Amino acid sequence: MTHPGQLLKQRKLYAGKELGQNFLSNPDTARIIVEKTGISKETRVIEIGSGLGALTIPIARIAYHVTAVEKDSRLIPLLQQELDTEGFKNVEIINKDVLKLDIAEIAKDNKLVVIGNLPYNISSQILFRLIEKRTCIEKAFLMFQKELANRIIAPPGGRDYSRLSAVVQYAAQVSRVAKIGPSSFFPKPEVDSTILRFNFFETKEFNLEQEKTLFNVIKAAFSKRRKSLKNSMTGGEFKFEKAFILQVLESAGIDSQRRAETLTVDEFKALALAVWKKR
Ligand code: SAM
Repeated sequence: MTHPGQLLKQRKLYAGKELGQNFLSNPDTARIIVEKTGISKETRVIEIGSGLGALTIPIARIAYHVTAVEKDSRLIPLLQQELDTEGFKNVEIINKDVLKLDIAEIAKDNKLVVIGNLPYNISSQILFRLIEKRTCIEKAFLMFQKELANRIIAPPGGRDYSRLSAVVQYAAQVSRVAKIGPSSFFPKPEVDSTILRFNFFETKEFNLEQEKTLFNVIKAAFSKRRKSLKNSMTGGEFKFEKAFILQVLESAGIDSQRRAETLTVDEFKALALAVWKKR
């Protein structure tokens, strides 16, 4: 693997901050990450943000097929050249914004494994999108800024528990896979990184409408996280009336003085069902 700094210099390119371009520069780290995903010669992978191919190449060495999605068109010929040199025929590069990608169309009838060293400025948005499309995803291995990863896996009751934690933990079992320091990247970020594994739950307890209600309830509850639920959920984006909120909290058996950060995912589900039934 050519060092990303050298590759970019040869082509008179630079790493773009706005695209979160901190490329993996340590081939051992890249190889270990891919090994930890447990992919095999049957696996179909979508890689988010393939960049210069630090992960694409070790993934392609093992997987059946890789769809490498990259927004920055400047990087596509560089990656294509690396792939051609190594003789890989199982990689399709798509020059697209991953937030506009039709994952179901790529998956067809297969379940995919998603892997990505994510652009940190849009990693929450990417995660919400993957959750929306999770029926065609078996599992995902994603690298985040450490602080965001801590928020995603945080249990209820603490400062880190957030809207993202509740939504993600409703959809998947999440665990920490590895911590990676700044020296594994070029350019070096000022933050530490964490790789999380997401095993999306097979069975969907909620239908689409109920799930939409759940996500809205979680959003409303965390909209003013310092306030009690009866105040944080009233008004706002969803224009809930206070009397309605008091009624649904009561039917879900949740004290209206509690704050969003104390609710378990099961309590959010009970509250969402109460809202869904009464609307
Ligand atoms: N996978 C490479 C690696 O590990 O070295 C690059 C990782 S870098 C942190 C993030 C990559 O995502 C960059 O190549 C960047 O251009 C790309 N990217 C940024 N925003 C994107 C988007 N909306 N859709 C697809 N790729 C994007």
